[in-house]
Amino acid sequence: MAVTRTFSIIKPDATRRNLTGKINAMLEDAGLRIVAQKRIHMTADQAGKFYEVHKERPFYQDLIKFMTSGPVVVQVLEGEDAVKTNRDVMGATNPADAAEGTIRKAFAENIEANSVHGSDSDENAAIEIAFFFSGTEIVG
Ligand code: ADP
Ligand code: MG
Repeated sequence: MAVTRTFSIIKPDATRRNLTGKINAMLEDAGLRIVAQKRIHMTADQAGKFYEVHKERPFYQDLIKFMTSGPVVVQVLEGEDAVKTNRDVMGATNPADAAEGTIRKAFAENIEANSVHGSDSDENAAIEIAFFFSGTEIVG
């Protein structure tokens, strides 16, 4: 396995409950290194573009509303097989299905307000990282 990068978001439900540090500790304990991080308030335009793959899904408009309802923390994570390592520590999309020890099991409120985003492939990780970060903002 190689050291790779993935893109992560700490979502508005988590920033609202002041969980950034606790979530970062779980990411670091899972072997991931936060090599870039910033707190932003996404615009509807940004959220709409970011989640464009879901635009035909019934929850798309609600998801944009949720993702723009408060600040988020966007991050680049680095580690062994970072996409999978992060997906494993995130847990299942629906917290009702998330395994013990995962971020979503610990903190997610429901299937929408599920505390974290993580890229689902190396290809999408590269696209998502470039959407929010310039090269000079990432310090490995
Ligand atoms: P994941 O974030 O685990 O990769 P998806 O890519 O399928 O999950 O969905 C993106 C996000 O859309 C989810 O994290 C969640 O916030 C929201 N979402 C997914 N499915 C639903 C649903 N059935 N109802 C409401 N929101 C949903
Ligand atoms: Mg996804």
